[in-house]
Amino acid sequence: MTIPFASFLPMERELGPALREAFDRVFRRSWYVEGAEDEAFERAFAEYLGMRHCVGVGNGLDALMLALKALGIGEGDEVIVPSNTFIATALAVTYVGARVVFVEPDIRTFNIDPARIEGAVTERTKAIMPVHLYGQACDMDPIMEIARRRGLKVVEDCAQAHGATYKGRKVGTFGDAAGFSFYPGKNLGALGDAGAAVTNDDALAEKIRALGNYGSDYKYHHIYKGNNSRLDELQAAFLSVKLPHLDRMNADRRRIAGRYLSGIRNPGVTLPFVRDDCVPVWHIFGVRCEARDALESHLKARGVGTNKHYPIPMHLQECYRDLGYSKGDFPIAEAISATELSLPMYYGMSDEEIECVVEAINTF
Ligand SMILES: *Cc1c(COP(=O)(O)O)cnc(C)c1O
Repeated sequence: MTIPFASFLPMERELGPALREAFDRVFRRSWYVEGAEDEAFERAFAEYLGMRHCVGVGNGLDALMLALKALGIGEGDEVIVPSNTFIATALAVTYVGARVVFVEPDIRTFNIDPARIEGAVTERTKAIMPVHLYGQACDMDPIMEIARRRGLKVVEDCAQAHGATYKGRKVGTFGDAAGFSFYPGKNLGALGDAGAAVTNDDALAEKIRALGNYGSDYKYHHIYKGNNSRLDELQAAFLSVKLPHLDRMNADRRRIAGRYLSGIRNPGVTLPFVRDDCVPVWHIFGVRCEARDALESHLKARGVGTNKHYPIPMHLQECYRDLGYSKGDFPIAEAISATELSLPMYYGMSDEEIECVVEAINTF
């Protein structure tokens, strides 16, 4: 049996007809950017989260970057980001001209360790960007407490955690603003690139929208040197088809994760830790193994596809050489990079496929 790391097939089989219908609807209307579909999805997603505003943008990176920009963060400022995340979190900070300051994660949850944040705060620090990595919420209470006490903004990176909760409350609702990605592989994915920023602040929402639309408040009137980053009508229409299925599809990922957590028994493999105040949505099911590369080969030989999130930590990436870091500076991020292996995880994975993965790991 061959089990891919990820597959869209079960989703496509189920939602194909509705997605084609959405395409036809947009095509008949002959209106492709900034229209009724965009508005309808923004309203639906804001409502799903219980937020006042959702601004559709071109992708997740832009959502984060535009939120930072709208909050007035730029040259001379510092922003705290976890040392273990996808590079987009850091690039959003770099793009607004601010300096990235890495803070190590808790190795059990992979998420930023609140106890280490305060030590990284300086008089230049303007914001904290918690990333709800792999679909599990960060420990938001202490993060929000530090932010309040030190007068810092909080921009949540929710690209991997649509629908995940912390103490019963959805991620994306804690900070001043949050960025979501609807890249196809995310828990809520479009059929191309798309993203959104959410906030409860009316003025901030308006500014994010203007910044993503050439800095324009009305046509051909430009108040900021903005970007072009809008959610197009087709992607918005596809997302409106998929949003009503998000909770059910997340629940399916929890079914898969549950079988992994109860079935995998290998002393060399450390399973992900689930906080009891969090309901994760399992964007990624990441295990840790000292012999990670051997485990990867073992699984590959048995037809099981895997991935690594992420093989090179950001402080050792070539593009961030200017920050002057070297190996050993962020040992926890480095340990995760060296040992993490992501198991197959996608909506509609069959019980037989799951058992095959469990069996392959238990025989390693
Ligand atoms: C995917 C992702 C992003 C960026 O989203 P894009 O839509 O690809 O720009 C940002 N942060 C994290 C943690 C991600 O996984």
